[in-house]
Amino acid sequence: MKAVTYHGPVDLRTERVPDPGLLAPTDVIVKVELAAICGSDLHVWHGREVGLDPGTPMGHEFLGEIVAVGKAVTRFRPGRRAVSPFSTSCGDCFYCRGGLTARCEHGQLFGWVERGEGLPGGQAELVRVPLADSTLLPLPSGLAPEAALLLGDVLATGYHCATLAGITPGTTCAVIGCGPVGLMAVLAAAELGAERIYALDSVPERLSRAEQLGGVTGASPEEIVEATEGRGVDAVLEAVGSAQSMQLGFRLVRPGGTIAVVGVHHETGFPFSPGQAYDKNLTVRIGRCPARSYMEQLTPLAHRREDALRRLFTHRVSLEAAPDAYRMFAEKRDGCIKVALRP
Ligand SMILES: [Zn+2]
Ligand SMILES: [Zn+2]
Repeated sequence: MKAVTYHGPVDLRTERVPDPGLLAPTDVIVKVELAAICGSDLHVWHGREVGLDPGTPMGHEFLGEIVAVGKAVTRFRPGRRAVSPFSTSCGDCFYCRGGLTARCEHGQLFGWVERGEGLPGGQAELVRVPLADSTLLPLPSGLAPEAALLLGDVLATGYHCATLAGITPGTTCAVIGCGPVGLMAVLAAAELGAERIYALDSVPERLSRAEQLGGVTGASPEEIVEATEGRGVDAVLEAVGSAQSMQLGFRLVRPGGTIAVVGVHHETGFPFSPGQAYDKNLTVRIGRCPARSYMEQLTPLAHRREDALRRLFTHRVSLEAAPDAYRMFAEKRDGCIKVALRP
């Protein structure tokens, strides 16, 4: 099959690799109809995240048709279509039962193989999905595939961020970073009734998207603090994953407020001290989204906001064009917000 494979920073290739086969009775094989490039894939592309074996198929956002099922699979048959979250989960361990599927004791991240261990990704013609019964969501009927695809990561992660931030009607918040996840955090904050959602980014296209979703743009950090009677916002939704954005979040949040972090971070410390956090009575909530736990819950929202979700995709390309699309996305060129891949 063809797959987009990793060969080092900035070196992705579309090449032929062996077809995946069933390895466990709980596996299925999915023929990928639609995949996407994620902002977190760029950490690998840039070389900020290292350790991936050369030749690993990339990607963790995909949906498609099931073409083979292991003997123990009960919920899926060949011919059914399903959407995957970015990691597998067993549905039955301590964490899964508590809704924290992101920390499933048997979970694996798609698109990460290190020293031979791990799971090849979904930017490929075929992908093996372990623990299929508890990992996959049957494709919701009547939902556009591009909207359904976002249930598996970007919409779930944005919504998770707004949930961690404790957004309720009347909350004033700031979303830092208006890439796909940040834009979905704006949408989610609006859905949850936030009174004012400041949206911060440096890319004009992203800011105009944020405005369309209910964000207020153009305010400087000083103006935001001033507009909240000098206090700062109730909650910051951080969707970048850098020291600068955490620093900005710390500056914007009011005493007693919350910084909710879904950006993937690689720094060795927080850019504020325990003493500074103490002096702000700060709450920081951080971590990988338990996407599988949100997928059913967010399906009605995905139906209702189907058009807004589909509009997130600015580019639709083949697997062959994926390496160039990564570069375009990384360089934020050509109005690129999100890239769909069609194998
Ligand atoms: Zn993703
Ligand atoms: Zn589990």
